[in-house]
This record gives sequence, C-alpha cells and structure tokens, in this order.
Amino acid sequence: CPSGPALLFVKTSQGKEEGRRFYACSACRDRKDCNFFQWEDDKVSETRLAAREEYNRSHQPFFTHRQNAERYKNFVLLPLSKRRFCQECQQLLLPAEWEKHSDHQCLCDISTAQLKSPSRILYPLENKKTNAQYLFADRSCQFLLDLIIDLGFRRVLSVGTPRLHEIIQSKASQEEDFRVRSLLLDIDFRYSQFYAEDEFCHYNMFNHYFFGGEAARETCRKFLYQDNGERVIMVTDPPFGGLVEALASSFKKLMAMWKETEEGGHNSQEMPTFWIFPYFFESRILEFFPSFSMMDYQVDYDNHALYKHGKTGRRQSPVRIFTNLTPSTIVLPVEEGYRFCTICQRYVSSGNKHCEICNSCTSKDGRQWKHCVLCKKCVKPSWFHCNNCNCCALQNHTCEKTDAGCFVCGKAGHKRSTCPSLSHA
Ligand code: SAH
Ligand code: ZN
Ligand code: ZN
Ligand code: ZN
Ligand code: ZN
Repeated sequence: CPSGPALLFVKTSQGKEEGRRFYACSACRDRKDCNFFQWEDDKVSETRLAAREEYNRSHQPFFTHRQNAERYKNFVLLPLSKRRFCQECQQLLLPAEWEKHSDHQCLCDISTAQLKSPSRILYPLENKKTNAQYLFADRSCQFLLDLIIDLGFRRVLSVGTPRLHEIIQSKASQEEDFRVRSLLLDIDFRYSQFYAEDEFCHYNMFNHYFFGGEAARETCRKFLYQDNGERVIMVTDPPFGGLVEALASSFKKLMAMWKETEEGGHNSQEMPTFWIFPYFFESRILEFFPSFSMMDYQVDYDNHALYKHGKTGRRQSPVRIFTNLTPSTIVLPVEEGYRFCTICQRYVSSGNKHCEICNSCTSKDGRQWKHCVLCKKCVKPSWFHCNNCNCCALQNHTCEKTDAGCFVCGKAGHKRSTCPSLSHA
C-alpha cells in the first residue's frame, strides 16, 4: 500500500485465533485512512496488482524530497517579506505560487529561526490515532539533549522525534563547538521541506520501510557508520497506539544496521537506545528487549491528552524512557524531586519508596505503591485485594474474567478500548 509493505494480522476473540489471516496497512489502523486489505491466501491477479501499483504511485507526495530540498535553497534566499508558508497546504511557498494559494491562510515573514523549528510551524497531526504527534515540552526536550550530551553521544538517530532533531540541528548550525548531529526518520513527509536528504529520511517505523528506497537506506547506514558506529544513540517516541511487536521488529533492524558498522567491533553490544513510551507497556517492551529497563523520568508534552493532575498541580505524564544503558548512568534532575536509590542503583521519583519485601522501588506511576502480601507484590495505592479474583483490583471492579488479555496492559477483564491505563485520556 502507499505506506510500504503491509503487515499480517490475525483476528482473535477470547484469546483464540479465529478465521483467516489478512494483510492490512502497517501505519493506519483506520480503514478510512488506508483500505488496503488482502487475505493471506488471496491470489492477486495481474490486473489488480497493476491497479494497486498505479494507486500507490498516485498517492506519492507531489514534490520529491530532492525537489523540496531544492525549493528550500531558493526559499532561504528570499527576503523576509517574500517568505510565506501556506497553513492549509502545509507548504513553503515560492512567490510564483502565491496566486494559487491566494484564498488560503498563510504565515508571512518566515524567519530563519522559524525555519529551524518546523515543528512550531507545522500543525501537529492528531486526527488519526496511530499518527498522532505529541511534541516534547521544552523541559523534556532539553533534558533529553543534556542527558545525551552528558553520556558522551555525538550522533542521534531520531526516529519519530522531530522536535529533538530540530533542537540538535539548530544548535549545530549556530554554535561552533556543538558537536552533536541528528538524522530524523519520520513518516511525516512535511519535514522534507526543511531538511536536506542527509538530515531526514521518510521512514515508516512499523515496517522498517524507507520511502526513498536504497538511497535513503544508504543515508541512514552512512550516518550510523561514521566513527565506526561509536557514540551513536537511537531515540524514538512512537505513537502510543502503535503495535509493540511491529515497532520492536523495526528497531531490531535499525540496531542490526548499526551492528554491521564495524567488523565485529561492537561484538555483543546493542545499539544504545531510548524508547519513549507509556509505563503500562513495560512488560510488552521487555518481552522484546530484555536488556531494557524503565526509567522513572516523566516525559512531558506540549499537547498531550494522556495526563492526570498530580497532587503538586503538575501534570503527571505516564510516559517514560526505556533504555538498554546502565540505569545508574541515567541521572534524573534532583530539582524535580528525583533521588538516587543506592539499592536499586537508579534514580527514582520522589514518591517511589523502596519496598523492603520486593527489595525494589516498585512504583510505576510516581505515586507510592503498597505491598500486598497475598499478591506478593506492590500494587497501586487505590487497589485492594479481592478474594474472589485472587488479586488486587479497584474497590468497585466487577469480579469476572475473560481469557483474552488486554492489548495495552495485558491484563484480563477488558479490551484495549476500555483499558483503565488509558482511561485518563
Ligand atoms: N515527542 C516527539 C514526537 C512524537 S509524536 C517530538 O517532540 O519530537 C510521534 C512521531 O512519530 C511523529 O513525529 C509522527 O510523525 C511519527 N510517526 C507516526 N507514525 C509513524 C510511522 N509509522 N513511522 C515513522 N514515524 C511515525
Ligand atoms: Zn495553500
Ligand atoms: Zn530502591
Ligand atoms: Zn512490595
Ligand atoms: Zn492483592
């Protein structure tokens, strides 16, 4: 389909596989956005294949990345008064094109500073669940960059992190002694208007597809290969509706690409990675990356719905950093209340008390959790042990079980759409 190779799905009901397997779009969960559908055992006729190829061709962006890069060069030569951005078409306009957009809302006098912060010009995509864009709040973006620098990294593979990419590229162009560089991989092609071909690759992280073909893949490979692949980190912040197994499979391929850099050089090492994702996906992520651990740092966004209001009045974000770096090296800001637990050898939230029985700082959401002797583990403060269900749950839960685990948290009794982890959205 236009998003590259489709994914193979299977319908499940009550935890059992049902019926035939089928291929559907990797990037769009909504049939309205992409209606690609094919049974696994379908024989596809030549005519249908040809029609499909024609359809995919006609759904390519109007300008190629190369053309956009060329347009950008011309755009920056224009005086301020001639620099316009069409908000309806989400496009930088050259003077000859003004006419066509005359009844569209435009931003005028686009400054160089604005061009260096495209995430502030482009509106965040939010209509489609799986393609929602949640941009880092400055506090979190700066924290990530400082952390990356303190850890000694020089190159960042920014997978779906346009705002991190842009502060890195912007600093690199302004401060002579700033040594960090970034390559952005993102499905949002609007960014190709602002970045050269060695700064941005149009990429789908659900199927590891480079829209720009072998040349784009080579750009990524080259970026990872510099300095024998040393001092490079992958930072990714995928849409939360995304399928963990599809994402993990793509990240493993990017890691493998990095591993090829030097003949056996990194031996058993894994490419350093920050995967930014909600805490309730912890078990799913660890399933695919046992070397990862979850940090307590709460990643904040400018435009996120997934917030609760904490006691302090500050919004409590459920989003965390998962990493394969040694937890004790991830220093969290003490001024924001994080402290170092010498037993766990990692920084934890102020409310996260070390449990003597679990011998671990067990809170996942920053609130103090309580130990249940019957469950033999710590649970959320709002939970009570239910003798019916033989586990802890909310006081007003209904004592019933279905076999099928929820897609989001893996627990029984509800589906993804009614997952309590997502209920504060
Ligand atoms: N917090 C980040 C943005 C995260 S939002 C920041 O501020 O930089 C998720 C990002 O992933 C968006 O940039 C979105 O365009 C991108 N994205 C969504 N689906 C994608 C896909 N299938 N492949 C690659 N990138 C995708
Ligand atoms: Zn327009
Ligand atoms: Zn501890
Ligand atoms: Zn405990
Ligand atoms: Zn219990």
